[in-house]
Amino acid sequence: MSTGPSFAPSEEQQLLISEVRRFSTEQILPGAAERDAAKRFPLRLLREMGEMGLLGMFVPEEYGGAGFDMVSYVMAVEEVSRADASVGVTMSVTNSVCCWPILEFGSDDLKARVLPELASGEELGGFGLTEPGAGSDAGGLRTTAVREGDHWILNGEKAWITNAGEAKYFVVVARTDPDAGNRGLTAFVVPSDVPGFSVGLAEHKLGLRSSLTAPLFFENCRVPAANLLGEEGQGFKIAMATLDHSRLGIAAQAVGIHQRALELARDYAREREQFGRPIADFQAIQFTLADIAVELEAARTLTRCAAAVAEAGSASGDAGRLASEAKLFASEAANRACQRSLQLHGGNGFHEDYEIARLYRDVRVTTIYEGTSEMQRLVIARRLLS
Ligand SMILES: Cc1cc2nc3c(=O)[nH]c(=O)nc-3n(C[C@H](O)[C@H](O)[C@H](O)COP(=O)(O)OP(=O)(O)OC[C@H]3O[C@@H](n4cnc5c(N)ncnc54)[C@H](O)[C@@H]3O)c2cc1C
Repeated sequence: MSTGPSFAPSEEQQLLISEVRRFSTEQILPGAAERDAAKRFPLRLLREMGEMGLLGMFVPEEYGGAGFDMVSYVMAVEEVSRADASVGVTMSVTNSVCCWPILEFGSDDLKARVLPELASGEELGGFGLTEPGAGSDAGGLRTTAVREGDHWILNGEKAWITNAGEAKYFVVVARTDPDAGNRGLTAFVVPSDVPGFSVGLAEHKLGLRSSLTAPLFFENCRVPAANLLGEEGQGFKIAMATLDHSRLGIAAQAVGIHQRALELARDYAREREQFGRPIADFQAIQFTLADIAVELEAARTLTRCAAAVAEAGSASGDAGRLASEAKLFASEAANRACQRSLQLHGGNGFHEDYEIARLYRDVRVTTIYEGTSEMQRLVIARRLLS
């Protein structure tokens, strides 16, 4: 069900949307409830998505990627997340917080070594910024990296890391200068097979249960010096630039969940009868559907607009603010949509046999990860006031 022509896609983008929608509807959606209940990671689907070019969407063809633009990317993440938000986050993380910073800040040698494996879907990527004591305040992280010859030796712990346990490459930010504040952080690409690297037990989550989230541990972990991203001391800048970019993936994930919540609400309203007629006949139900639809269109348009500005490159700094605005609005609107759609399902909405129950659990994290709503408001206000 399309709700309108928002930010009309080009012919090429329309083709991509059709292909991803068909794959998501036929291959991803049917097993989503079962994977969620079993907490089963969708490895086979991800391999297929890699073959379709969905895991290295910005990676140029010379490194084995599909070379898509940012608007195409948010359109594809939306379609996948409509079918299963767990698959959507795995896709978004590999593309946005792993491939993108490597492409943007990695040496030619690093790109040639790592990107082809990620872009083909042969291997997955991850991003390690958060620590048990450093979430919103990423600059407070404590994992250290000390140079020793041709290696950096990492010690510390990362928390809540998506794709941990399956990903082969992690972009990790660690402290290289204890006295330099945010300028004392450096970013590395850490392969999961280096000595001293390990992954903890998977977290027991409220939602996104078929995605993987676990802590990472570094115990005298030896990372080749050639795996540095950018220069020593640029880690905070790289992390913030990466998040500015990746928030669009989370906004798109929220739009996908929102779209599905609307479809489920509409279908249920037509089928469910009370007082001798479909509940869709009641004006209160019609108003609920209208409210979900209007916010969906607004969230989708803002997300695609922010993606277009990011793609064009913004000298004024608007790209970062718009990405935060899109992430803030789309995630909060999707939460409202799932709440309204579940309410419209009555008691059945509270039953795991109904898809809206999974969406209600899955959508919750979109206002939390890659910067909480409160942090987005701070970013937006700071950029307005500066
Ligand atoms: C499923 C999942 C997957 C994740 N994946 C990753 C990943 O792959 N890589 C990664 O690095 N991290 C990941 N995270 C971590 C996520 O990014 C953090 O949880 C998030 O940034 C918030 O940090 P925190 O949990 O420490 O909350 P805190 O920072 O402790 O915040 C607690 C509350 O205080 C508020 N708050 C904090 N500071 C302020 C302030 N200055 N003003 C107003 N309010 C404030 C917050 O908004 C929040 O409501 C993931 C988290 C989840 C749940």
